[in-house]
Amino acid sequence: MTHRVGIGYDIHRLEAGDGVVIAGVRVSCPYRVIAHSDGDVVLHALCDALLGAVAAGDLGEHFPDTDAAHRGRDSREFVRAVLALPALAPWRLANLDVNIIAQAPRLAAHKPAMRAALAELFSLPLDCIGLKARTNEGCDAVGEMRALQAQAVVLLERRSPEVRKSGSPEVR
Ligand code: MG
Repeated sequence: MTHRVGIGYDIHRLEAGDGVVIAGVRVSCPYRVIAHSDGDVVLHALCDALLGAVAAGDLGEHFPDTDAAHRGRDSREFVRAVLALPALAPWRLANLDVNIIAQAPRLAAHKPAMRAALAELFSLPLDCIGLKARTNEGCDAVGEMRALQAQAVVLLERRSPEVRKSGSPEVR
């Protein structure tokens, strides 16, 4: 197999506060995220997408929210730990694509910084970082500014060409 695709999703509740962290970027606003870690929905969704691409479980299995060590943790550390997993070693991240669904805060002005932060964190050129932000048209918890959501997709490419010989099993 030469490619793998993975999908990730995350949601966190909002409460009154002084800012949120999204895609590794701090955004000042009258909300904060209720979470065990820093509650970065984009990075959590991306971790799950990476894990899903290689069938290596999910973020909660690797970093349980019952573990005090992860309290308030910078989610970039989760990303670095996931990228370092042996299951991902044969694979190179080709591109990633993210949806952020947030009624508040407004994110348009922050998208360039978020893409730059993701490019650095995932060691990808900017043209391999898709990031869209949209409101939820006032619907549901996100629309009522009670939550933030993110969705992510990643594509992985095998680092070296597969060696296949007639009659031999597929190299995995
Ligand atoms: Mg999360």
